Parts: sequence; C-alpha cells; structure tokens
Amino acid sequence: MNKRIMHLDMDAFFASVEQAVHPAYKGKPLIVGSRPGKYNTVVAACSYEAKACGVTSGMSARQAFRLCPEAVFVPADSSKYIYTSDEILEMIRDTCLRGERASIDEFFLDMSEDDPARSLEAAMCIKQKIHQRFHITGSIGIAPTRVLAKMAAKEKKPDGLMILEEKDIPGFLKDKPVEKVPGIGPALREQLHLLSVFTCGELGELSLDFLTGKFGKAGSWLWGIRRCEEPYEIKYWDDPELPPKSISHSYTLEKEIRTRALVEMWIRLLSEMVGYRLRKDNLEAKGIHLYIRDNDIVLSRQKSFYSSTFDAGEIYKRASLILDSFRLPRFRVKALGVCASYLSPAECVYLFEQDKKRYGVISAMDKINDRFGDWSIFPAVLTQEASHRPIN
Ligand SMILES: [Mg+2]
Repeated sequence: MNKRIMHLDMDAFFASVEQAVHPAYKGKPLIVGSRPGKYNTVVAACSYEAKACGVTSGMSARQAFRLCPEAVFVPADSSKYIYTSDEILEMIRDTCLRGERASIDEFFLDMSEDDPARSLEAAMCIKQKIHQRFHITGSIGIAPTRVLAKMAAKEKKPDGLMILEEKDIPGFLKDKPVEKVPGIGPALREQLHLLSVFTCGELGELSLDFLTGKFGKAGSWLWGIRRCEEPYEIKYWDDPELPPKSISHSYTLEKEIRTRALVEMWIRLLSEMVGYRLRKDNLEAKGIHLYIRDNDIVLSRQKSFYSSTFDAGEIYKRASLILDSFRLPRFRVKALGVCASYLSPAECVYLFEQDKKRYGVISAMDKINDRFGDWSIFPAVLTQEASHRPIN
C-alpha cells in the first residue's frame, strides 16, 4: 500500500504563540530570543512581519535590530511553547491519528489508510481546531514520504495546505532548487552544483549507481526522493518502546473560578491525574510546568526541581510554588494544566521512613483504583470537585 504522510508545521511558532498571548504584538514585527536593548543573543524565532524585513532564526539579535529597529523584542519562554505543543499533540491524538512529534512545532501523521478526500478533511479539521484554540496557524503538506510532505507544507506557508499525489511529484520537483530539499545542506548542495545538478528535476535524472558511487548511502536517499522511497519510518508516539517526553493533563472549566482554594483544588486534581499516569508508566519527573488561563491571559511557567517524583501530593506542592510565582492579586481562571517533564524511570529508593510509608499509601490507592475503577479512592481535599472531575 502506498504511504500517505501528513506533515504539520506550525508557522513561526514561538513568535505566533507570543502574538496570541499578547494581542498588542499582532501584526507587528516580533523577535523572540532577547530582551529589548540586550542584543547579545540570537533570534530564536520571528514573526512573518519581521521576516519581511529580512530577519531569520539563528541570526544575531544585533543584526536583527539593525534590519528591523522597530521590532518588538521578547525573551523566549520555553514553557509556553512546550505547553502549546503538548496541547496540539493531545488534540491530534484525540482525532485518533497516529504519528510522531518530530520537534516542538512539527508533527508527522500517518494517513496511509485514508483516501485523499478524507486526509484533506482531517487536515482542514486539525488546522481549524488549532486556530480556534490557540489563535495560531500551522501549514500542512500531505505526500507519500516524509521529505515530500515537509516540502509540501513549506510550499504555501503560512496557513498553507498542499496535497501531493504521486502523479504530481515530477512536476512539483522539476524546477525546485536542490537546497529546498530538507536534508540537503550547504555541503551536499555544493557537491551537487559541481556536478551541474541544480534542480530536483536534474537530480531525478541521475541513476542509482551514479549517485551511490558519488555519495554512498546519501546517494540512495537522493535517488529515492523523486521515487517516493525513503529509509525513515515514523516513530509512533504510542509505540510502547518509546518513553513519553512529558505527561500532562489540562482542563477548560465551564465557569471561571475566582478563589485560590478552588484553583488549588483543580491543580491538585490535575496533579493526581499526572501522578497516576507517571506511576502507570513507571516514570518519575523532575520538571513541573503549570499553565493557567486567567482573565484571558495565559500564564505559564516550568520549573525543574532537585529530586524526581511521581507522588501527586509532591507534584501539587511544586505546581503551587509556581502558582505563587505568578503573584496573582485575584483569580478569574478559565483553564489550567499541569505537566510533568524531564522524565526518568522510577527508582523507588527511599532515604526516609516517611517516604516509604507514603509510597505504601500511594500504591495501595493505585491498586484500589485499578481494581474498582478510576476515582474509587482519592484525597479528601478533592471532595468538592469530585462531582465534576474531568474524564481521565
Ligand atoms: Mg515551524
């Protein structure tokens, strides 16, 4: 069966998240990676308005300032981007598609079992959901291989969508400069230029023997581009062999909550869910990330702690410390999320007797919940919320 792979690539991801969180930055050139007036860093990302002035990621902030002095400079806030990426991943998982998170803002999805009409529908649905929820856009390419799907997603950025059928591929590649192929870097491009190969069309004319003779393994990869062959397989996120990178739970409330006690209770509830999943996967986490949408402003921070834990009570304590750091004078919370990151296999080594006892209580609770169903037993502090807790 022919493969059909969707590549979702978020558009100017970090900059778009910043623009969505701070609407005043919308439509302005925005550069993520340094504070205003401090230009000794590099550009982590920039908005399309800044790109129009010639600014690119990886450029020094000083050069970016020279090109675009009117740009708004903001420091990178990785927790915000990780949180959004995790939420996009959850959203895609909810659509029952399988795939791989290739980076913080790129996803490969396997659509081999769908016909073109259904994959188009799925692509539009994903784009729409992301836009509705986060007010940011992503571009999608669908093609028989990862490399072609990636090229198709790039083709119509931002907010693009392109489906490449096998019959369209020779035409699509014909005049494309070889350096447009992800994976062909400056060194390989130079070598191809020396052979008078400038376009993917010209590359496609060369034989497998010639290319492998010149470039070895890379030669057979180059030969396969036009023939829809590639050596990479998708590493499915639900593959039991792969440990998760983070475990998170979030919830959007029907009614905003206005007291700290209720906010804390929800954080505790989400911490319970995160802790349970960590224990199920035999993992513990060093990093905790708290996200809150308060008064339509997204507050998000990640902290890494000295020791790893899978204890929901401890996760909750750590998330509460982050909540304190937001210094909110009052609460109008519409959504919250707790995420555990920096995961490692659980070691279950206890230095103190009370830790051993605590572990005994936790594993007894897990056993009861496994046997009698989720939430058969839970900390008393959650009683008020137990009647409308989210589905795990
Ligand atoms: Mg991107």
